[in-house]
Amino acid sequence: MQCEKCGTDRPVHYCDVDGFDYYLCVRCSTEWDAVRDAQAPPSAESVGRSSAL
Ligand SMILES: [Zn+2]
Repeated sequence: MQCEKCGTDRPVHYCDVDGFDYYLCVRCSTEWDAVRDAQAPPSAESVGRSSAL
């Protein structure tokens, strides 16, 4: 099956990304997890900042 990110035809893993279904190869799924971790916004913190302003 084709990876939905890089398009490479190789075995893929199912990934649930923010409620969307993706099928990514091992490499992309690993990178995706890293990106998600890096971009994960600390919602509680931003709420705290808004109320502070
Ligand atoms: Zn891929």
